[in-house]
Amino acid sequence: MTHRTAIITGSTSGIGLGIARAFAAAGYNVVLNGLGDAAAIEEVRAALAAETGAEVVYDQADMSNPEAIAAMVAAAVTRFGAVDVLVNNAGIQFVAPIEEFPPARWDLILQINLSAAFHATQHALPGMKARGFGRIINIASAHALVASPFKSAYVAAKHGIAGLTKTVALEAAEHGVTVNAVCPGYVMTPLVQKQIPEQAAARGISEEAVIRDVLLAAQPTRRFVTVEEVAALTLFLAGEQAGSITGAIIPIDGGWTAH
Ligand code: NAD
Repeated sequence: MTHRTAIITGSTSGIGLGIARAFAAAGYNVVLNGLGDAAAIEEVRAALAAETGAEVVYDQADMSNPEAIAAMVAAAVTRFGAVDVLVNNAGIQFVAPIEEFPPARWDLILQINLSAAFHATQHALPGMKARGFGRIINIASAHALVASPFKSAYVAAKHGIAGLTKTVALEAAEHGVTVNAVCPGYVMTPLVQKQIPEQAAARGISEEAVIRDVLLAAQPTRRFVTVEEVAALTLFLAGEQAGSITGAIIPIDGGWTAH
């Protein structure tokens, strides 16, 4: 068991919530973050704390707002004394051909999926360096390594986060701080559920065909990656034994990027 502190952005749902659950079960103090109904989030927070005995707090910072990101990191330091692990996970998706891609959507995806990780890293890294220990884990995507049509903003942001990961890894390497990117294939979360009708419209095919011929066709295992699998990899990267893994862009994609 550890008593380290982890901020997990975008952890009110999907992969982030699974990561929060794994970290709380391992004894971390956990800062939950994300959008959603306040009462529902409080229920999740209280249940996680009760299940695990961990300290679990919620910060409502909007990841498109740099000041709110700075305040979230500062609040965690005030509350727990340090931020040992930062998991940049918050993300959104939008699927449309580039000619029809709304510019405001492009901007928002870049802000939440890429710039938020820059801002959070900028604020969390100095304390990690000063203490000689830190873990920054960016939840990227197989789309950090390969592209798919109709996802221009998402693929650009995820390729960008791979570059950010490698750069900060080099800057932090001599200070006991590792920086890595976890690159899941398709995981059945609200983010994927929402894009199935969008993909069907963009491609002119049925929703069943999107699941069979687009999503799972990319993954040789022919099954969705699970939230628990991504959480277990992230927890491992946060531990002492992962100290020599840094600057790595790690697929967890059922073989997708082996093609
Ligand atoms: P999800 O929609 O279930 O969860 C996204 C989380 O981000 C939610 O908690 C949401 O509230 C939060 N969020 C969105 N906008 C925010 C904002 N402005 N400020 C703060 N929080 C915000 O999605 P998910 O599938 O769990 O995705 C999590 C991460 O995993 C994303 O970065 C996504 O790109 C990545 N990913 C997902 C898949 C997949 O197949 N589901 C695959 C590869 C990578």
